[in-house]
Amino acid sequence: MITPAALEDLRRRNPVPEVAGKWVSLRRGTKTGRMVGPCPLHSKDPHAKDSTSFECWSDGWVCAHCCKGGDVIRLVEEYEHKSFREAVEWLGGPREVDDAEEARRAAERAEKQAQQEVAQAGFRNRERDRLYGWWQEARPVAGSPAEQYLLRRGCRVPPGARLRFRPDHPYMVHEGRDERGRDVWRAIHRGPAMIAAITAPTGHFLGLHITWLDLDQPKGKAVITHPETGEVLQAKKMRGSKQGGQIELLRCASPTCLIIGEGIETVLSIYAAMVRKGRPLDGIAFWAAGDLGNLAGKAAAGCRVRHPIAKDAAGRTLLVPGAEPDLASKAVTIPNSVFDLRLLGDGDSDPFTTRLAMQRAEARHACAGRRILTAWPEPGRDFNSMLQGGECAA
Ligand SMILES: [Zn+2]
Repeated sequence: MITPAALEDLRRRNPVPEVAGKWVSLRRGTKTGRMVGPCPLHSKDPHAKDSTSFECWSDGWVCAHCCKGGDVIRLVEEYEHKSFREAVEWLGGPREVDDAEEARRAAERAEKQAQQEVAQAGFRNRERDRLYGWWQEARPVAGSPAEQYLLRRGCRVPPGARLRFRPDHPYMVHEGRDERGRDVWRAIHRGPAMIAAITAPTGHFLGLHITWLDLDQPKGKAVITHPETGEVLQAKKMRGSKQGGQIELLRCASPTCLIIGEGIETVLSIYAAMVRKGRPLDGIAFWAAGDLGNLAGKAAAGCRVRHPIAKDAAGRTLLVPGAEPDLASKAVTIPNSVFDLRLLGDGDSDPFTTRLAMQRAEARHACAGRRILTAWPEPGRDFNSMLQGGECAA
């Protein structure tokens, strides 16, 4: 009989990256900061540099291809074809841990976690202050390359839009962690950027939505590639908090109608079309949510739908979030004054997933006396490309 404390001690003595690292070459993943690489169980080349199926951290591992995962003991069982007891012996065997020692360690872990939480809260506040500083010193959008970018896409900038321009904004990527466990970031690109303020319903500043620009490119966006992997990265990023916030493009104190979509360009396309047609804009606000998750919120627990086509890395049918909303999750808050809500579906993303998200948004934002309509662009297109083709009816 091995006590839970002795097992805990065994796992602590055998961090997964150390054990798996004897069998395969692991490297620090750019997205999660976890160790990634070929899988000890299935990969043919244990030193493949482009393999990412296996991922591990100090006390766990998972393989997307094998669909297996667990702790270090499980990994040894699988790799060495051993029983649980044999795997424990292979890892050095259990050592008796006395209760006082275990209590001391538990207290140490709790203390460390409390310190981390304080550090994270401090980090979030410093990050928000830094972003707010950038917002404060940014230039007005009028007459800037950011306005040129929007005009070229047929959009218009509404007066008072929370959009600005920074000529030399850094594009940061996560490099991993340093020896003290702190995140390490590196700027891989600097250049002109359109920045949008994300604000809370109270009006407080939450973060920035950033679009890097290159007006020499056909779409006006910068083409940014990761210097090591060569991967083409998204020219947009959000920093700070976004969930529950909004990007106000046409502001209105107590709007009766709100037109809201995922992306800034989508919303400004509809705005431009309405201005061009001379539609009255009294009582109408135009907002961007930044992404679909913030527009629709999370799906209720267990509400997953089988995707008709898409498969995951292991070739299994992909399950995507369904239409039933989790009202406890954070998403953009629609003002109570809004009785006419227009949601803009975007053709950029996977149509099946987007449709479910928009149904979820409709269910989430429904209330007595409010009419909700979702407008869709033509299949395979977005409102911006339709606007540029002169087809936006709004
Ligand atoms: Zn595997």
